[in-house]
Amino acid sequence: MERFICVACGTQYPDSEAAPDACPICLDPRQYVPASGQRWTTLAELRATSANEFREEGTLVGVGTAPGFAIGQRALLVPFGESNLMWDCITLIDDATADEVERRGGLAGIAISHPHYYSCMVEWAHRFDCPIHLHAADSEWVMRPDAAIRHWDGDVLELGHGLTLVRGGGHFPGGAMLHRAEGAGELLTGDIIQVIPDLSHVGFMWSYPNLVPLPEAEVQAIAAAVEPFEFDTIYGAWWARVIASGAKDVVRRSAERYGLALRGELPGVRSTRAART
Ligand SMILES: [Zn+2]
Ligand SMILES: [Zn+2]
Repeated sequence: MERFICVACGTQYPDSEAAPDACPICLDPRQYVPASGQRWTTLAELRATSANEFREEGTLVGVGTAPGFAIGQRALLVPFGESNLMWDCITLIDDATADEVERRGGLAGIAISHPHYYSCMVEWAHRFDCPIHLHAADSEWVMRPDAAIRHWDGDVLELGHGLTLVRGGGHFPGGAMLHRAEGAGELLTGDIIQVIPDLSHVGFMWSYPNLVPLPEAEVQAIAAAVEPFEFDTIYGAWWARVIASGAKDVVRRSAERYGLALRGELPGVRSTRAART
């Protein structure tokens, strides 16, 4: 028996004799099956070829795999009393990683923004004997069901220790973000609010790899969902995608820019059209 892992998205499947026929996460038009075809690996293979690194990210600690694997996100360890909450998740877990997380206080829980980062969440939860908080609206995308998974419903879930899950929707109906009431406030957004490379704006898409946008109303709903929360910092899904200050205004400006662009009212968009006629 093996627990196969999709190479393209990093999702682990339950015990099976043979590799699954396909990966529903990658067949969904928000992800993709590479042109070279569906490939599978296992944790044993990944442990032999890759390792995790721990790096400071803002006031938090990130955990990411090198060389980069699948979608390439890194997880974040968020202080939770004497322990940590793991925000988003990665596929690779090995003894060295677990020992280092343990040394830093272990895990009291895992919370994940959306199905692209479900990865090896059950392996992590078993190792640390902790629950996984997922939004119920995305329950159909759980490929390896497990008793550790706790589905939450509604728009907000208080986790304690100043941490609150906020449903933004958009990229996925249950798309969630984590608010941390520490200092001026921090928002961990996964792919729900996407931090772009120059850190001056954020983006919002239904599919990032396939470049399919969201309706403007969905983007306004995401911006409205975080508006009641105080935050100055946003942590995106990848290394160094951190807007250190002024992040609340960045979200407001970016949502407004998105609407202007979709309506053809962004100055640059208008001039492109005028030049053609
Ligand atoms: Zn996949
Ligand atoms: Zn995604």
